[in-house]
Amino acid sequence: MSEAKVTILGCGSAKPTKTTSPSGQWLDLCDKSFLIDCGEGVQLAMQKLGLRTARLYNIFITHLHGDHCFGLIGLLSTLSMLKRTQPMHIYAHKDLEKLLQPLLDYHCGDRLFDIVFHPINPRKHEVIFEDRTVSVETIPLKHGVPTCGFLFKETRRKMAEDGSFYHVTRKRYAYCSDTMYSEKIIPIIEGVETLYHESTFLTEMGVRSKEVMHSTAAEAAMIAKKANVGKLILGHYSARVEDHSLFLNEAKPIFDNTVLAEEHLTFEI
Ligand SMILES: [Zn+2]
Ligand SMILES: [Zn+2]
Repeated sequence: MSEAKVTILGCGSAKPTKTTSPSGQWLDLCDKSFLIDCGEGVQLAMQKLGLRTARLYNIFITHLHGDHCFGLIGLLSTLSMLKRTQPMHIYAHKDLEKLLQPLLDYHCGDRLFDIVFHPINPRKHEVIFEDRTVSVETIPLKHGVPTCGFLFKETRRKMAEDGSFYHVTRKRYAYCSDTMYSEKIIPIIEGVETLYHESTFLTEMGVRSKEVMHSTAAEAAMIAKKANVGKLILGHYSARVEDHSLFLNEAKPIFDNTVLAEEHLTFEI
């Protein structure tokens, strides 16, 4: 069976720090690779980790805050220089195309590959990608701009005794960033093997957390507990908190199987 794993390309929040880059994750599922968010620094992390873009066809962007999409133009420009010919599909809020198109025209107008924009409605829970072995659903989140997380499902088509086909779901990975505490996501992520939930702040920074519509580590753990997930990965840490173990200390008493995202770490799903 193929490996299901996620590699952290960036686990910081709005600003890059000495030890963290803004959001980005590389997901391997069913011998396919997916890029989730593309903050500044994602390309560099991919180079350091030896991740190959030749097999990357799909990029999922949660929302249009810069820490989740400023790395896109750099990555696409590099692919153009590499003379890529395979199309790249980008799933994001409709405004991304409007923002990116002038930069694409200016910097890589002579590229040899198509960029296919798939506008998504972040307010709606729906399937936005499906092939024989993987499906991706949106998870509407609560943030300052339209935002959705993504639920990746590894599925297999099986034949029933009567000859008809049915789908079996094996592994599920839910990516929820950025968001304030919202129990509305629980029915969608219920029982997933692995949940990544942002934990930008500590409980003592709760007022600030609500103001900017983010979550604390304790809130992320509460969602993991109520949704009965297998494992919780924390990330999207505020630049004000240098010691990430403080996030773990707050989450673990609520949800024990919690781990910290750190740059370039890989987690099994
Ligand atoms: Zn963010
Ligand atoms: Zn944001």
